[in-house]
Amino acid sequence: MFKKILVANRGEIALRVIRAAREMGIGSVAVHSTADSDAMHVRMADESVCIGPPSSTQSYLSIPSIIAACEITGAEAIHPGYGFLSENAGFVQIIQDHGLTFIGPTADHIRVMGDKITAKDTMKELGVPCVPGSDGGVDTLEDALKIGEEFGYPVIIKATAGGGGKGMKVATSAKDMEKAYRTARAEGKSNFGNDEVYIEKYLTTPRHIEIQVFGDGKGRAVHLGERDCSLQRRHQKVFEEAPGPSITPEERDRIGKICADAVARINYIGAGTIEFLYENGEFYFIEMNTRLQVEHPVTEAIFGVDLVREQIRVAEGLPMSFTQEDLQINGHAIEVRINAEKLPDFRPCPGKITQYHAPGGLGVRMDSALYDGYSIPPYYDSLIGKLIVHGRDRPEALARLNRALGELIVDGVDTTVPLFHALLQEEAIHKGDYNIHWLEHWLETNLGSG
Ligand code: ADP
Repeated sequence: MFKKILVANRGEIALRVIRAAREMGIGSVAVHSTADSDAMHVRMADESVCIGPPSSTQSYLSIPSIIAACEITGAEAIHPGYGFLSENAGFVQIIQDHGLTFIGPTADHIRVMGDKITAKDTMKELGVPCVPGSDGGVDTLEDALKIGEEFGYPVIIKATAGGGGKGMKVATSAKDMEKAYRTARAEGKSNFGNDEVYIEKYLTTPRHIEIQVFGDGKGRAVHLGERDCSLQRRHQKVFEEAPGPSITPEERDRIGKICADAVARINYIGAGTIEFLYENGEFYFIEMNTRLQVEHPVTEAIFGVDLVREQIRVAEGLPMSFTQEDLQINGHAIEVRINAEKLPDFRPCPGKITQYHAPGGLGVRMDSALYDGYSIPPYYDSLIGKLIVHGRDRPEALARLNRALGELIVDGVDTTVPLFHALLQEEAIHKGDYNIHWLEHWLETNLGSG
């Protein structure tokens, strides 16, 4: 059993990992930048090490500083959370070279899934259904135009190294292709240092459905159903739920089994998410995330499992504590992402929290690193909390979300809470009748923003 682990992250996800470690009797080490000396993760961990100035490239992304923090504190393993170094294969390699353990998948799996073209090829090989499109990279505009003709517009041009909604451009006709193709390449180059792109058929009314998988690294793997994350702004999720309102138990079993078998065959270890677009009863693979996702708590709620505890267990070489048969869905869960952002344009809104009160009661979980008097620094992303509700069914979860949002107090900065109050007035939300474009249209119509 590990005695001590280091958490290479900040904010709510650092607390999430520290809490799991503490319940397992494992000590925790927080790392932080000088801007985060007063942050909750530093206060909550057993020990903390300052690893650099505010800029994340010099602190949370500084591999030498994080390794040094392990050496100073005697931490034996590193949990990366999400974002920052969580999908950095080089980091995993360096951790291993120092005789430490990375709580997550192998460097090879991260590398394969981090390149979207290789990921798609691998998944196709493993029997996972993919979005129709180019066979690998598209190196010239002429080839791009040919593919546009072949598959029919609209198509989407995607940077193989892309992420976070960057490096993706839609071409609705041959006329648009040149601009879309060049922009996707340029964004890939400037954001990820790689201008290789591929092309997919652009699905016009899909839902975003992702399957949570978990492997023990020894050829055993399970799936934990789906999450519907279709409510997105600029390809970023804002509201997630499980189970998906449009997915039948038969569809879940079918796609879940395909995913579990695929990751079992590659001896995948730890938590992973296989993302699909879902349209007219068909699933189309888009990418795999080789880490814990922001929205993992909705899955934890309906299956009654602790995914971080499970990650730590398999990283130690212990078996998973559940089998596929143990995993039965109980009720419905919804997560909303609370960002320090000002509507209607979602401008980041850092600043001092003058009052904070978290909602509570049956079926309510608030994952947040806020406290009264905390100052949100301007250097990092604007997620300040996740409100997760669980009910016996979807209507109960929605009623609970409404009730919990009413209890939440975050004074001093603007947040995205009013967005969720407004969404809860919408019939489409109550019916579960939305796709990946629904929220953008709603924002345009109701807030004049997109
Ligand atoms: P990222 O790595 O930047 O998150 P993804 O490939 O996961 O990129 O896609 C993010 C979002 O972009 C999807 O959830 C979906 O909304 C949209 N998208 C991606 N591929 C397609 C496609 N072929 N057709 C329509 N929308 C797409």
